[in-house]
Amino acid sequence: MSGSDVSIARATGFAECMIALRRALTTTPVGWLLAVWFCWDRVPLSSIAGWLGAAALVWAGSLALLQHTIVNGSKLELHRRRAHWIGGLDGFGWGLLTWFLIGHDPVLDAVLMALLCGVTSVNAQVYGTYVTAYFWQIGVLWMVSVTGLLHESFSRNAIDYSAGLSVFFALTVYYTGAVSKRLLEGIRLQHANGSLAAQLRIALRKVELDAATDALTGHWNRRALDELVRQQVERHVALKKPLSVLMLDIDFFKRINDEYGHLVGDDVLRAFAQRLGESLRAGDFCARFGGEEFIVVLPETPLAMALEVAERIRKGVAQHPLLDKPKIQATVSIGVATMEEGQSIGELFAAADAAVYLAKNAGRNRVSTHDAHAGLLLDSVNIPLKIAG
Ligand code: GH3
Ligand code: MG
Ligand code: MG
Repeated sequence: MSGSDVSIARATGFAECMIALRRALTTTPVGWLLAVWFCWDRVPLSSIAGWLGAAALVWAGSLALLQHTIVNGSKLELHRRRAHWIGGLDGFGWGLLTWFLIGHDPVLDAVLMALLCGVTSVNAQVYGTYVTAYFWQIGVLWMVSVTGLLHESFSRNAIDYSAGLSVFFALTVYYTGAVSKRLLEGIRLQHANGSLAAQLRIALRKVELDAATDALTGHWNRRALDELVRQQVERHVALKKPLSVLMLDIDFFKRINDEYGHLVGDDVLRAFAQRLGESLRAGDFCARFGGEEFIVVLPETPLAMALEVAERIRKGVAQHPLLDKPKIQATVSIGVATMEEGQSIGELFAAADAAVYLAKNAGRNRVSTHDAHAGLLLDSVNIPLKIAG
């Protein structure tokens, strides 16, 4: 059990206690009504009114203190002492009962003692998650009521009642302490389970992400690509928006591996992937299709714009070396395809692949499309592309 878990449980228990206390204090007048009902015709009205007035005054004070505590966040380390005051005042108001209402009728006295025992029993639940305030309440109640009972006479009844209250209160304190420990342990477990569940959720999310990510480049892998493209195609069909893909294949990559070794080849792949990622918009995504081949998906992008994007990527790769040490300058051939009506995902990828093939055949470091009208489209946007096919 960690120390922070315990202190979180204590702090939560304190806040819960303050809320429960508000509910309990607002129902206190019900207890007064009961006492007044018992005392009616048996106790002089002035005594009843005196007790009610004193109890109400103390009660209003404790309620105001409690409200202030709750409004300020019920923080254990800040409001501990205030909670003790609330408990003490609560006990004081009830303890005053013996000063005003006792000694008029033996049967009534016994009933009032039972009422005090009832009040402390109910409060055991209320203060259960912050038992120190309960000890204050019951301690003050005990002191005020016993002095109230004994201050006029050491009669047999007064002594019996004092002893009875003392035993009852002592037992209640003993059992409430044990119950409180269990309540706090419950809160602690609840909290520990909650953070465990959160940790599991994060771990699961990480596993899902790892399963969808290419370890070398950090881009989506082939599996994730299939799912992402499927979603985009659904959107494309539903919203009737264009959807384009670029297939990129690094030129003569085998030579880089042969000349510098596989590890440098890996560095080149990483550098290429990074440059690719930097040249895309937020809604676009790219994935490693295999080896030194990548796919870029461009949602809501018509062919002409996709060709522009492809050309920008091609230039971005060709203009600056991908690695400085050793200096490695690579180029990329890019095939562009735009989804046509009734086309499947496989057919779309095949069209992009065929376009890559055209670009390779036309000399590499080129953008190509399978679309026969692309030349016209490119002319219209006046981009100096090397078009193959
Ligand atoms: P082309 O211009 O026709 O595409 O020529 P190329 O050499 O790029 O194509 P080819 O398909 O002949 O070779 C691709 C090479 O990419 C072969 C393979 O060993 C290498 N390769 C594939 N995956 C990785 C990888 O993860 N790391 C490294 N370093 N090399 C890889
Ligand atoms: Mg290849
Ligand atoms: Mg290649």
